[in-house]
Amino acid sequence: MHAGELKDTQHGGAISPLYASTSYAFNDIEISQYPRYFNTPNQRGLCEKIAALEGAESGLIFGSGMAAISTALLAHLQSGDHVIFQNDLYGGTRNFIKKEFPKYGIHYSFTQGLDVADFEAEIKPETKGIYIETPSNPTLKIIDLKAVGKVAKAASLWTMIDNTFASPVNQNPISLGIDIVIHSATKYLGGHSDICAGAVVGTEASIAKIFEVAKNLGGSLSDYTVWLLERSIKTLYVRVGAQNKNAQLLAQHLQKQDWIAHVYYPGLEDHPHHNLARQQMKGFGGMLSFDLNKGMDTKKFLLGLELVKPTMSLAGVESTALSPRLTSHSLLTEEERLSQGITSQMVRFSTGIEDIEDIKRDLAESANKIS
Ligand SMILES: *Cc1c(COP(=O)(O)O)cnc(C)c1O
Repeated sequence: MHAGELKDTQHGGAISPLYASTSYAFNDIEISQYPRYFNTPNQRGLCEKIAALEGAESGLIFGSGMAAISTALLAHLQSGDHVIFQNDLYGGTRNFIKKEFPKYGIHYSFTQGLDVADFEAEIKPETKGIYIETPSNPTLKIIDLKAVGKVAKAASLWTMIDNTFASPVNQNPISLGIDIVIHSATKYLGGHSDICAGAVVGTEASIAKIFEVAKNLGGSLSDYTVWLLERSIKTLYVRVGAQNKNAQLLAQHLQKQDWIAHVYYPGLEDHPHHNLARQQMKGFGGMLSFDLNKGMDTKKFLLGLELVKPTMSLAGVESTALSPRLTSHSLLTEEERLSQGITSQMVRFSTGIEDIEDIKRDLAESANKIS
């Protein structure tokens, strides 16, 4: 709630003032303050807040999740290096790797990663790091954070995680031995579907390394949005708490519906990694997926919803749903999608904070219309 707050020393107001200046007094001791140097008062305050949420020494705020991901990766890799990625990744991250890495001569492998031996098997002399995403999008697979951290340390590799799906409320990977934590702040940190931003947190040394590249790539966040994001994060625990609760109730309810073939949610006891999720997560999150029965038209189901919005993106206080095949994962080849278990029947559901009975009714009514 309060970490990183700025004091209104002029008027004694209750909230952080917004300093929109792009021009600050020259100071020859320290690098001067400038938005693209990620060091204006509001930017610094927000970095401190997000670092505190993840139990990290330091952090940087970016103009989008992809700016955070691309900058963190490019800062830690150079020509000839090799990096290991989990197979199930955010579509944009996968596209960045495939399109940009060859231009820089950076090599990479994808691996399922459900067993930590999958990562070990890919380690080569030129491997520098392991990059993971758990729970994964959209099939909610769980990777063992402690085990990955251990394998990486033994081989002197860095580890990065995209912790967007869990949010800092449900999972703090640094405490489990992961080095660098990334968020698309467009999702839970923002939480109201009105902010595009990203964040990276880690040790002072790793953030300093990322900063050196970040100031050249220029992906900083405007102070207006920084201020709005700080405001949003104040309610993060309340929002995500309500989303966790609704998602658990919804997953249990959907499992019993005869129009549903399968529900993917780490909070369900029959999820293949439920025990692991229980160990490393403090809550199971607001994201779940389900497969409609064969023969049901996924697009018609989504368009038949009245309360739940069939929109892109996720993590807002309103429930939204999409078909990964038609939207979030449309850039992948059909083969890549099937390797992740993404079918034409799959619906990815971002649980909001509405009354759970309203959400259940809306889904049931749409299913009824097309059955
Ligand atoms: C949305 C998202 C991103 C990308 O974030 P942007 O803010 O859209 O650039 C990265 N990872 C995950 C898991 C996401 O959901």
